[in-house]
Amino acid sequence: MALNARLDHRKPLVFDTHELGRRPGALQRLTREIDAPKDLGIAGVIGVPEGAPVELELRLESVMEGVLVTGTARAQAEGECVRCLEPLELELEADFQEMFSYPDADDRGRPKAEPADDAEEDEDRLFIEDGLFDLEPVLRDAVVLALPMQPVCQDDCLGLCSECGARLTDDPDHHHDAVDIRWAALQGLAGSLGDGEKDEMSGAEAEAGVDEKQEK
Ligand SMILES: [Zn+2]
Ligand SMILES: [Zn+2]
Repeated sequence: MALNARLDHRKPLVFDTHELGRRPGALQRLTREIDAPKDLGIAGVIGVPEGAPVELELRLESVMEGVLVTGTARAQAEGECVRCLEPLELELEADFQEMFSYPDADDRGRPKAEPADDAEEDEDRLFIEDGLFDLEPVLRDAVVLALPMQPVCQDDCLGLCSECGARLTDDPDHHHDAVDIRWAALQGLAGSLGDGEKDEMSGAEAEAGVDEKQEK
């Protein structure tokens, strides 16, 4: 990770570790309420609206090679039911834990529990820059993981009627007389065939003929 863009301590998701210090074992707890950044959530499905309050609870722990950040984010997410398309809201609680390394940290200081998978891990490593760290990527990942990919307004949402789009949960007995419609169409077809071929096929037609004659 390149250390090109300097962190701005005024950004709401940038945190300062100066107070915590670098003595391993030092602990700091803090809370902060921020306005949700843009596109916090699963695009097009569910997310925290931009500017909505997000409550952050953080625990910073100084370790040899950096600062271990453990925390929880709470916010109200909004989306729509994937079955019936009704708007829905849910209380989001997203937990996260992330290590922010000192750029000058020696790898020998890292825990020995992670032996060989460094190559990929280095790409994703987050760093402390000038005593600051940016929680934004961590928050984003945590929120996406905590949100449902297929949100529903209620577990047993029945979705929408495929015929007319009515919301079936509001009207569980909802149905259309599809059979009757088809039957009516068949009857109409049979009738028109009869008309074209033989005038005296049925009693009904015979009667109709009689009626016509009477009317004349
Ligand atoms: Zn629904
Ligand atoms: Zn319907």
